Amino acid sequence: MNWEAYVGFDRAWARWVFAVAVFGAATWLNVHLQPLLDGRAPLLPYFPAVVLVGLLCGFAPALALLIASCAAILFFWIAPVGELYPINSYADLLLIALFFAAGFAVAVVAATASRLMRMDRMGRQRMALALTAGRMVFWELPLEKGKFKVTGDLAGLFGQSWSSFDELLESFSEADRELLQAGLARAVAQYGRFTHAAAFAQSHNGEVLWVQVDGEVRKGANDRALHVYGVVVDVTLQQRALRASQAAEERFQLALQSGKVMAWECDGEGKYTWTVNVPEGLSAASLVGVEVGSMMGSPNVIGEVLCAMRSGRAGRFTQRISRDGQVSEFLTTIQPVVDAGGPATRALGATVDVTELAAAQAQLQVESQRKDAFLATLAHELRNPMAPIRYAVANLLAAKSEDAKQRAADVIDRQSAHMSRLLDDLLDMSRITRNAVELQCEEVDLRSVVKQAVEAVEPLYAERRHRLSLSMPPTVVMVNCDPTRLQQVLGNLLDNAAKYSPVAGEVAVQLAVDSGQAKITVVDHGIGINADQQGQVFELFSRLNSSNSAPVGLGIGLAVSLQMMRLHGGTLTVDSAGLGTGSRFAISLPVSAGGKRPVDQTPARSSRIGDSQRRVLVVDDNRDGADSLSMLLMAEGFEVATANSGQEALEQVESFRPQVVLLDIGLPDISGVEVAQRIHASGTVHPSLIAVTGWGQQRDRDMTAEAGFDAHLIKPVNFHDLHRLIVDIAGGPTQLEKAARVSKPAPGRDSVGTSASVLRP
Ligand code: ADP
Repeated sequence: MNWEAYVGFDRAWARWVFAVAVFGAATWLNVHLQPLLDGRAPLLPYFPAVVLVGLLCGFAPALALLIASCAAILFFWIAPVGELYPINSYADLLLIALFFAAGFAVAVVAATASRLMRMDRMGRQRMALALTAGRMVFWELPLEKGKFKVTGDLAGLFGQSWSSFDELLESFSEADRELLQAGLARAVAQYGRFTHAAAFAQSHNGEVLWVQVDGEVRKGANDRALHVYGVVVDVTLQQRALRASQAAEERFQLALQSGKVMAWECDGEGKYTWTVNVPEGLSAASLVGVEVGSMMGSPNVIGEVLCAMRSGRAGRFTQRISRDGQVSEFLTTIQPVVDAGGPATRALGATVDVTELAAAQAQLQVESQRKDAFLATLAHELRNPMAPIRYAVANLLAAKSEDAKQRAADVIDRQSAHMSRLLDDLLDMSRITRNAVELQCEEVDLRSVVKQAVEAVEPLYAERRHRLSLSMPPTVVMVNCDPTRLQQVLGNLLDNAAKYSPVAGEVAVQLAVDSGQAKITVVDHGIGINADQQGQVFELFSRLNSSNSAPVGLGIGLAVSLQMMRLHGGTLTVDSAGLGTGSRFAISLPVSAGGKRPVDQTPARSSRIGDSQRRVLVVDDNRDGADSLSMLLMAEGFEVATANSGQEALEQVESFRPQVVLLDIGLPDISGVEVAQRIHASGTVHPSLIAVTGWGQQRDRDMTAEAGFDAHLIKPVNFHDLHRLIVDIAGGPTQLEKAARVSKPAPGRDSVGTSASVLRP
């Protein structure tokens, strides 16, 4: 029992007051007791008094009480009573001396015990403080006899009450429990220690805590394990910090790995002291002590590192390293660490593998150069047809004979068609880079597509005096494809074969079916392609032969063609044995299962309108465009009126009452779409409406369809196609249907050499 705590003897005066009180009580007791004992034991009450005061008040009060007790005994109980020194006999002297000696010994022992008790109390207080501050409890588990005991604020720290070791184990998951039991068993067997960190949910609030259970087995006298004691420490914060640092480390590693970055630290001599994310085939440990950069066979790196450390300034440098025939490029950033104003004693660095980045930069540069070259060629190619057109116009004006007029007109026709093709290629290129190419697929006999492509290039082949042989199977080869696009691809291959073969060359086209694939090969005996350049021909703006005498192209065709074939689920490949050996381009695409009826590709009957009552209104804000078209229509026997604005068009529709209106969309006042809507809304006249516009995206076509247009033509319009369309439309609905079949739309293709149209039945 902690008496001091009860009496409250922290203050010195209290101790002395207590000693006096005890002395008084002992003397009072003695005065009443001795008559009963016949005065035989006058010392009796004073021994416990000395013990009590020694224990509770320390040595000095106990000694004082002892001296006072001696005086009281001499005064009251040794005859003659009432004297302070009544010693007459040796026995009395001995008695009082022995009493004093024994009392002194008792006082010393009691005071020492008191000090020990105090120290023990303080020790326990310190321990309790240490346990709470360290967020731990102490436990003891006697293995033979005795109770499991926990010291510390178990409930406050962990919200638990473990009355046995099994109960402590029960708090954890089964896996942790088994590990703890195994650890304890091992420790018991080896008289050793065990430790294990585990999580448990607090029973009162469910909050998860991480604790570390440590234990040690103490040996008994006969070498047997007797006692296990240990601590349970709350390591939640450490675990959280550990987990956070592990996550940060993982993120750091991931960042380094994905960025191909090796982070490192080196000492003042430029030798690695720490590395992370080292190149493949090396280990971080093996690099410690190695000179920076030396493992990459780059001797000048150490110079740069030491230089940066001497200057104390951050540095950055690149290295190109050639290994096993492969050139790699590394970018190193170094940051010297300057301690307390002195020279740098170490440096931090990061080395990044920028090989891919450098390659991408080089590629970008090549592409940019190609683009520049392309733009220069394009400007040249677009300017080229302008000169003959202008001469032809002058010739037309001055022409005296019909023949001279016809020749000038032919020149304009050819050159404008060429320009049209260039524009088509440009638009295709833009669509491909935007991934906006749309196919209009249908079941067709591939033979008819090949035949039409071959027919289309006949004039070019005739001009260059090439011989073109064609081989196709006798039966239909049905494929699901966009015939216009496929024809464009084939036309491009045939065009190239003609362009890149010397005059009077030979080109062979073959269509065959093999293992469910239709394959078209175009073989020429022209300038051929080097093996290492064959992949490049499909890249945008690549023109391998631009430096020599070969014909100049824009370098778009094959890139567009490859993309088209990919969209068709097919392939486009090139094969050449090298320069001067000719080339072989092959496209393949899957043959349709079952094969459906081929699309009717028969050209429509080109009827010529017989009567001149067919009235056509041409609406275009470009006066020249409107006038020249109306002149052509009049020459074909139509009655024609023109309008140059939306308002004018609406008035003409009312007064002129045309059967067909060729309506531009982008008009200055009212858009063509609105003009069409108003015409339909008026309900008085019902002309067929044909949009003639430069806008050819699918959404433009959808817009005109919605506004009630019967067809959508893209400028520049081929007059023969336009004429046929007008005739068919003006001829009545059955003709209209025919026209729709014939002039199958090519949406997504804004402009083609022959006009592209969309007819709405
Ligand atoms: P263009 O022919 O307009 O330059 P292409 O994309 O069609 O563009 O072709 C790209 C390059 O591929 C051409 O510049 C040419 O160097 C090469 N090439 C294409 N076809 C052939 C061929 N049949 N023979 C030799 N070289 C060819």
